[in-house]
Amino acid sequence: MKSIKGECNVECPNGCESFDAEYWTLIRGDHDAELKESLLGGELNLISCPSCGEIFYHDRDFIYFDPPKQILAFVSPKTAKENFEEKKQKMMKDFELLRKNLSEMNISYDPFYLFGIEELKALLDYDDFCNCQSEVIAACASQKGFKAVAVNPAQARLKGYPLYLPVEGSTYTAQSVKKAAQALVAQNPALTLLNAVIKDISEGKDLPARL
Ligand SMILES: [Zn+2]
Repeated sequence: MKSIKGECNVECPNGCESFDAEYWTLIRGDHDAELKESLLGGELNLISCPSCGEIFYHDRDFIYFDPPKQILAFVSPKTAKENFEEKKQKMMKDFELLRKNLSEMNISYDPFYLFGIEELKALLDYDDFCNCQSEVIAACASQKGFKAVAVNPAQARLKGYPLYLPVEGSTYTAQSVKKAAQALVAQNPALTLLNAVIKDISEGKDLPARL
């Protein structure tokens, strides 16, 4: 499934005659780096009125999908403020349909139901931050002679963990992860995502599934 454009009738904020315009209804974040960039830069679904030339954001429902990162987000427009709950019910139905139609993609994680494009930007910003720090953690782990185990991205995101967990020795156990994580944080306190891992292990919580 590729990124998809839709067409609809658009009203200009200046009250000009309405016109038909194309806009993106589905964005594959893993396939279309340019579309993702334009989303983050605030240029996605900008439409120009043919009568007065005004450029404005076409605030409509769209889906953001990045299967390798396990991100599936249904984004509803800001104008849906009053009936967001109603919208959410509809988005949940859409998700069930999508999951059935894309059974080969094995979507085993929960989607995000977001209100407005800003919430999606915040999610993608966090994801970027998490990716960067995860790369650093993997590099530091290897320097120290630890293994870096890739974990399920959706689970890691929910728990506030990095995408790789360091492991002392050869077995992926809570204690081997905790020891390695403590050693890395002692050396580099900026590796903040490991703090959540250490805290959870100390409280006896389960490790996320390996990828
Ligand atoms: Zn206009």
